[in-house]
Amino acid sequence: MNDFENLKQIINDHNSFLISTHVNPDADALGSELAFYHILKKLNKKVRIVNHSQTPYNLEFLDEENVIEKFNEEIHSNIFDEVEVFFLLDLNQANRIVKLENGFRKFNGLKVCIDHHQNPEDCFDYIFGNTDYSATGEIIYDFIKETKIVDLDYAIALQLYAAIMTDTGSFRFERTSPKIHYIAADLLQKGVVPIDVYDKIYDQFKVGRIKLLGNALSSIQLDETQQIAYMIVTQKMLNENNATEADVDGFVNYCLSIQNVMIGILFYELNDGLKISFRSKGKIPVNLLAKEFGGGGHSNASGTRLFNTTIEQIKNEVLKRAKEYLEMENKWFLI
Ligand code: 5GP
Ligand code: MN
Repeated sequence: MNDFENLKQIINDHNSFLISTHVNPDADALGSELAFYHILKKLNKKVRIVNHSQTPYNLEFLDEENVIEKFNEEIHSNIFDEVEVFFLLDLNQANRIVKLENGFRKFNGLKVCIDHHQNPEDCFDYIFGNTDYSATGEIIYDFIKETKIVDLDYAIALQLYAAIMTDTGSFRFERTSPKIHYIAADLLQKGVVPIDVYDKIYDQFKVGRIKLLGNALSSIQLDETQQIAYMIVTQKMLNENNATEADVDGFVNYCLSIQNVMIGILFYELNDGLKISFRSKGKIPVNLLAKEFGGGGHSNASGTRLFNTTIEQIKNEVLKRAKEYLEMENKWFLI
């Protein structure tokens, strides 16, 4: 039995499912969850999606039937006892589901991960997918195609297109293979309109986000090598612009659009703690850099969340380590 037949078997053998994804979900996280939800619904299964975070407003169109629930300890206190299988999508470390982590760790049913990140935590009964996939949405597409578990209809096509479009950086990142374009072609044939999806995700922001972006761009500094660029976003900046925490998604990428810059870093003061996002060009593995600070991710895009520290306290140490990664750049090419 190949992997996907195994996944199909898990679905066939059970009746009730819980799906969740990482904190601050992106379109790959939400599109994958919703596509998977629709597969299970088409098979008349009992299924709920419960996330730690609220769905960002620009991605609400993906959840047309409004099925995603935001985790609430009181409302969801029994949810872990009510289902047989717990799917985690687009993450492979249980701490990324934050408030659901405890329930996940104690969960007695099957724990299944569908994901495309490196270094999965050893806490799942099954893992489907690997780092060759550009997006979790691509894994789900292959699963549907290989097993023919359900028909790929417009709703699923839209969700998978949004997932793949965003995680490939609108079809430009390294894993944008010919296969990805064949998948995109198939999804377009189901009725997906690229400009509509792009417009909804990237061109319908509230003005506060754009003004916040202006502040974030103004905060950018280069380190002494001129190859590391970092930006800072604080709660004060958020409040002044009437923006929300999710509005910062994607800002860090601007650091890499500066001439000669190889590593971009965002220091982001959260309501509760601090987040650092890393981006790199070429072979600089910022997932390893993030790991040194308790996080992880992909080779060119990674992050971490820290508590009990401040941007001022951690900034110099992060920049120092980033510089060491830069200096090792030649070595990474040899790996
Ligand atoms: P972003 O900077 O866009 O939030 O995250 C980029 C990538 O870094 C994500 O796709 C995810 O793989 C990884 N990432 C971000 N934050 C964390 C974190 O707190 N822990 C881990 N393990 N990975 C993270
Ligand atoms: Mn993803």
